[in-house]
Amino acid sequence: MPLLIKNGEIVTADSRWHGDIYVEDETIARLGQNLDAAPGAEVIDAAGKLVFPGFIDPHVHIYLPFMATFAKDTHATGSVAALIGGTTTFIEMCCPSRGEDALAGYLLWKSKADGNSACDYAFHMSVTRFDRQTQGQLRKIVADGTASFKVFLAYKNFFGIDDGELYEVLALARELGVIVTAHCENADLVAQLQQSLLAQGKTGPEWHEPSRPESVEAEGTNHFASFLEITGAAGYVVHLSCAGALDAALRARRRGVKIHVESVLPHFLLDKSYAERPGVEGMKHVMSPPLRDKRNQAVLWDALAAGSIDTVGTDHCPFDIEQKLLGKDAFTQIPNGIPGLEERVNLLYTYGVKAGRINLHRFVDAASTRAAKLFGLFPRKGAIAVGADADLVIYDPAYRGTVSAATQHTNNNYNGFEGVPIEGRPSVVTVRGRVQVKDGVFVGDKSRGCFLKRNPSFF
Ligand SMILES: [Zn+2]
Repeated sequence: MPLLIKNGEIVTADSRWHGDIYVEDETIARLGQNLDAAPGAEVIDAAGKLVFPGFIDPHVHIYLPFMATFAKDTHATGSVAALIGGTTTFIEMCCPSRGEDALAGYLLWKSKADGNSACDYAFHMSVTRFDRQTQGQLRKIVADGTASFKVFLAYKNFFGIDDGELYEVLALARELGVIVTAHCENADLVAQLQQSLLAQGKTGPEWHEPSRPESVEAEGTNHFASFLEITGAAGYVVHLSCAGALDAALRARRRGVKIHVESVLPHFLLDKSYAERPGVEGMKHVMSPPLRDKRNQAVLWDALAAGSIDTVGTDHCPFDIEQKLLGKDAFTQIPNGIPGLEERVNLLYTYGVKAGRINLHRFVDAASTRAAKLFGLFPRKGAIAVGADADLVIYDPAYRGTVSAATQHTNNNYNGFEGVPIEGRPSVVTVRGRVQVKDGVFVGDKSRGCFLKRNPSFF
C-alpha cells in the first residue's frame, strides 16, 4: 500500500525543509509540497514532528556466544527493540571464535537472522584466525555481500589475532576494497595487568578499568593505525572511549591514514564511577573498553560535533544480572557488554541535540548517514531521496519519558541507563514503506527485515 507522510519537517545530514514524502514499492517515490495520495494510500500527518532517515546502528551483537555464555537477545527481540528506538538497520558483528571455521560461522549467523528480523541487517565479518583456508572463505563472504571485516586486538586466544595475521587481513582487505573495523586494546598489556591485579586480591568490577587503562587503548589504536598506514587499507576504530585513543586516531588521519572512528553511547553519558559501584551494580557497567574518567566525555562530544568521531553506535551486548554474576569472584569473568540498541537515538537526541552539543544534521549523520556511507549502504540507506529505501522515522520532539528495564524490549533484566530522562522518541517508524512502530508499540511484520548485500567501497 502506498504511504504519504504529510507536513513533516524533513531533516537529513545536509538539508532541512517542510514537506511531504510519498512512498511506493518500498522506496521514496516523490518529495514535495502538497502531494496528493493515490486512492487507498495510507496517510500520516507529521505536523509538529521531525522526519529523519531510518537510523543505522553500525555495531551490535545479537547472537553471541562469549565468555562461557550467550548474549540474551535473539533477532526477534533485538530487531523490535531497535525499531522502537528508531533504528531501522543494524550491522551485527559475526564473531566465530578462533577455533571455529569462518565460513561455517558466517552461515550460522546468517541463519539466525534469516526470517527472524523485523528490521534490515548486515554483518561485519570477524576474522579471528587467518590462514589459507580462511582467506578463501573471506573472499566468498565478501562476494556474498558482507563487505567489511572486524578484527580484535584484544581478547587474546579467543577472538584476538596476532600481528602477522593482522597484516594479512589488512592486505586482503585492501585488495578487495573492504573496510576493516577494529577493537583496539593491546591484548598482552591487558593480560599482564589482569594477572597482576588479581594476584593482589583486586577482584571486584572496579578493577576492570585499571586492567585496561586509557594508555592500553591509545597504544592499540596507534598500533592499528600503523598497520593501516603500511598496508594502505581503510580502517574503522570501534567503540573509541578516551582522549588518548582519539588523539592516536586523529594523528594518523592527519598524515593520510584512512582511519575512521566510532564511539558508543555509554562513553558519552556514563563514566567509570558506574562500574565502581559495589557488587552487581558495578558489574552491569563492565564493558571493553571500559567506562572512563568523566573528563573524556567533553572531549568525545567536541570530536563528535566536529565530525572527527564519525559515528555513534552502541556495541549493544546484553548479558543479564545472573550472567554478570559469573564474575562475582573475579572481574575478568564478568561478561563484557551493555545493552543500548533501543535507547541510542533518543539518548543522542536528548543529550546531544537538545543539550546543544551537536546540531540536528550532525545527529542524523552520526547516527545514520555516515555509517551508510562508510559501509556501502548509501544512498539506499541513510538518505531521504527519491529512490532510497523508505526507512523513515517520524520523530516526536514533545515526548517526555524515562529509560527503564521495566518498559524496554531488549531481552534483559536491567538497563544501564535506568532512570535517565529522555526528550523525544519515534512516533512512527517504517521499514521499506511498511509502518513497523507507532508510539512505542510494535505494530508491524516481525519478519520484514532483509539481509543487505553491500559492495566493496574502495576507499
Ligand atoms: Zn562489539
